[in-house]
Amino acid sequence: MTTPQAPAPHELAALRQRYRLERERRVRPDGAAQYRDADAEFGYYAADPYTEGPAERDPRHDTVDVAVIGGGFGGILAGARLRQRGVGRVRIVEKGGDFGGTWYWNRYPGVHCDIESHVYLPMLDETGYVPEWKYAPGDEIRRHAVRIARRYDLYADALFSTGVTELTWDETSETWIVATDRGDAFRATYVINATGTLTDPKLPGIPGIEDFEGHTFHTSRWDYAYTGGTPEGGMSGLADKRVGIVGTGATGIQVIPMLAEDAAHLYVFQRTPSTVDVRANRRTTPEEVGADREGWARERRENYLRIVSGEDAEQDLVADAWTASAGLLEKLLPSFRRRGDRQTFEAAYEMADATKMNELRARVEQVLDDPETAEKLKPWYRYACKRPTFSDLYYPAFNRSDVTLVDTADTHGIERVTEHGVVVGGSTYELDCLIFATGFNVGTSGIHSGKLPVHGRGGVQLLDTWARQGPRTLHGFTSNGFPNLIQLGPLQNASSVNFTHILDEQAQHAAALVVAAEAKGALLEPSREAVDAWIAALADGAPDHEWFHAECTPGYYNREGRGRPNGPTAYPHGAVAFHRLLERWRGESMGDVLQARTVPRP
Ligand code: NDP
Repeated sequence: MTTPQAPAPHELAALRQRYRLERERRVRPDGAAQYRDADAEFGYYAADPYTEGPAERDPRHDTVDVAVIGGGFGGILAGARLRQRGVGRVRIVEKGGDFGGTWYWNRYPGVHCDIESHVYLPMLDETGYVPEWKYAPGDEIRRHAVRIARRYDLYADALFSTGVTELTWDETSETWIVATDRGDAFRATYVINATGTLTDPKLPGIPGIEDFEGHTFHTSRWDYAYTGGTPEGGMSGLADKRVGIVGTGATGIQVIPMLAEDAAHLYVFQRTPSTVDVRANRRTTPEEVGADREGWARERRENYLRIVSGEDAEQDLVADAWTASAGLLEKLLPSFRRRGDRQTFEAAYEMADATKMNELRARVEQVLDDPETAEKLKPWYRYACKRPTFSDLYYPAFNRSDVTLVDTADTHGIERVTEHGVVVGGSTYELDCLIFATGFNVGTSGIHSGKLPVHGRGGVQLLDTWARQGPRTLHGFTSNGFPNLIQLGPLQNASSVNFTHILDEQAQHAAALVVAAEAKGALLEPSREAVDAWIAALADGAPDHEWFHAECTPGYYNREGRGRPNGPTAYPHGAVAFHRLLERWRGESMGDVLQARTVPRP
């Protein structure tokens, strides 16, 4: 473990200057347009390698109570919470061949969750399951998703390997018509969109990518038929292969040590180094997490959310790098900022941030044998500019003679792909296999993608109504003109590093909305006034993100260096305050969202 190194005040100015230069070196004029979707001629990169050919079935033309789009944790929790409240026909429609969402797709070697498993895995109290590791492997998480789906009988009516293609509100029956790419056109009284925020793989728009004649795939569609092995390693198929990997984000950091172990030679094409902190994963016991007490998991999860949201808590039950650095990561929440005036707060913040970053840069130097490689691996930006990562295997991998780090920052990434390899700085690296760990389109899945048109009252399309003024919702869940459509996700709602907790709160709220509408024989549709009031509430006290993101190295956190999107994106006072607000609102009449039906409930 490294010792924190507080910088001298004059060093802070030098750091600021260095960060600015590093940012300028990386910002590209094409911003987010540098990426391409994994569709059309690149659809191969998004195909499902885990389920052989979708099972034959007849198209559905029936009616269900609730259609849920997406079978990841959001959809599963919505289904489970609806079942707990006695809602009968819940149909989950999922593109993958099974439940699991991100954990269905991401099975790359080394995949783990970097949030503590005892707070990340939802419904531990309800299922009686106690995770084995502090940071669970992906397969354990996927199996837990399946466990919840079985427990709440969500398989019975689920449609797998199926993508929803269109939603149409039918005024005459006051139901949604749900169309899919498998020829279904069924009706649902309610639709819940739970398609996730990091769902569709994206590829860099590198010239010549289609010319590569070796093997290639995206990390979220790992080709074990080619590499051999399992998520635990043993990729014997790579023993004689020159492998290249593009991307050193949270995924790259986990997979690179595994590839280093098994490939004949590994080339890591890095554009921006991540921060890589200590992992110290270990087995845990039920006793140490107090799993013999009723409600232990809920208590732990709430304690975690309080700490990462800057709320007071008597103790830190999880006590890991996320809770230790909570103030650096969530500095923009008023709950953190209330200590001291703005200037004092920002000065203290900058000092704490520089101390943390110095510690992480010192870690690189301590582990790497070669000082030149160490320099390339050092991150030069503020801690919260990019998603922090954790690994005890990543840096040692670069001490191997069969691993080469190729820094691409000066050329804004890989310049070109050829039939036989990759070109950077005029040098060609010949490869048998090229793997993209280049992440996902952010916040543009499902009804936010434009690929799934939603026709509300009068045939009006959801994204058209949002095009001029931005998204307009009540609490992020419902929109005027789109009755009985409930959205999950951080938009105008809440966010946190432990996103499954947010999803579970959202699932419980969605179930409460459905139950209230059923009890009153009403439609769920907020009035325009209720939506306006919520947009105003989001702006009230919203912190100024721009100063921070404008100085950050580019990435998906700041729209590739262009700052945050205009308008409020999440409740500005943090998840704990938001959940309190929702609870209060549910205790009142819910009158802002319940409207009279004109047609009796089918
Ligand atoms: P990211 O978007 O975080 O990283 C993509 C990587 O690809 C970056 O290093 C990026 O560099 C690089 N890249 C993109 N284009 C090029 C190019 N043309 N040339 C060279 N490099 C390029 O994707 P990840 O899949 O790593 O992670 C996405 C998110 O998924 C994470 O932020 C996290 O939220 C989640 N995740 C969570 C995990 C967990 O344990 N909970 C594990 C894994 C992922 P640059 O930075 O310069 O843009």
